[in-house]
Amino acid sequence: MATGSINVSVENIFPLIKKFLYSDHEIFLRELISNATDATLKLKHLTAIGEASVTYGDPIIEVKIDKENKTLHIIDQGVGMTAEEVEKYINEVAFSGAEEFLEKYKDSAKDAGIIGHFGLGFYSAFMVADKVEIITKSYKDEPAAHWSCDGSPKYTLEQHDKSERGTEIILHINEEEKEFLEDAKINELLVKYNKFMPIPIKFGTKTE
Ligand code: ADP
Ligand code: MG
Repeated sequence: MATGSINVSVENIFPLIKKFLYSDHEIFLRELISNATDATLKLKHLTAIGEASVTYGDPIIEVKIDKENKTLHIIDQGVGMTAEEVEKYINEVAFSGAEEFLEKYKDSAKDAGIIGHFGLGFYSAFMVADKVEIITKSYKDEPAAHWSCDGSPKYTLEQHDKSERGTEIILHINEEEKEFLEDAKINELLVKYNKFMPIPIKFGTKTE
């Protein structure tokens, strides 16, 4: 297992994310689904140009609520990430624009549309979750990785036995945000944000 500190010059970014973007906390779902969509379309492209020799099939994105464990899961069948890519794209890059973001938008961060442009997209998960896990297996022939972070800049990264390609994001939903464990709420957001998304979303027994 590897442990380390997310490379961030601000002491602790998560309370800042929560504070500045509080009124728009529900956008986390849009951010995570857009990442799942990107990952799926990337795989489609790599398959089309012959870079990835995998079966693309008819991929879906699945959203699941586990009421007992108070978790929300967003699962895709896209490119996935190797452990090295998690280091690079989640631990290092994610915060590269954070300072600039906070400087520029501290008065107007309510405009949630700006969040994705600064690579804070994934980290918006911490607006609703105390702890976030990523279980991911790349289309490349490498073992799956399991990343976990409890909201401080400390994370853990270890191997996982996931065998299907793709990424599962697990959000341990904060007590104050428990509405995001309700089917009706998630359904409402999925309809609102993802009506015209290119990859079908499966939620419960429904496929939007
Ligand atoms: P952005 O989407 O603007 O690049 P994010 O913070 O949303 O920023 O995501 C950071 C990076 O993490 C992505 O660019 C991608 O490389 C990686 N990533 C995030 N989610 C996934 C996923 N579901 N599958 C594969 N890679 C992902
Ligand atoms: Mg994104």
